[in-house]
Amino acid sequence: MTEGEATVPNETKTPTVGRIVHVHHADRCQPAMVVRVWGETTLNLVVFRDGSNDAGDGGTGLELTRWLTSATLADEPGNHWHWPERS
Ligand SMILES: [Zn+2]
Repeated sequence: MTEGEATVPNETKTPTVGRIVHVHHADRCQPAMVVRVWGETTLNLVVFRDGSNDAGDGGTGLELTRWLTSATLADEPGNHWHWPERS
């Protein structure tokens, strides 16, 4: 480890299986667990819905998760993910 590695921003780290990231859903974020890493910025995710509050999200409201494949790092809607915002 060289000096400075400890200060690498979270956003530049490669995600690992089991980490939680965000995906955009309408005007808010949904949590998603990393289930496979294809590269530094390309992930397979399982997105956790807000139960029946998310009915109409391509699901019935009874499906609490959805699978998102080959999502890429971008802070925008679509097949993308981003690191959770800091509070
Ligand atoms: Zn977010």
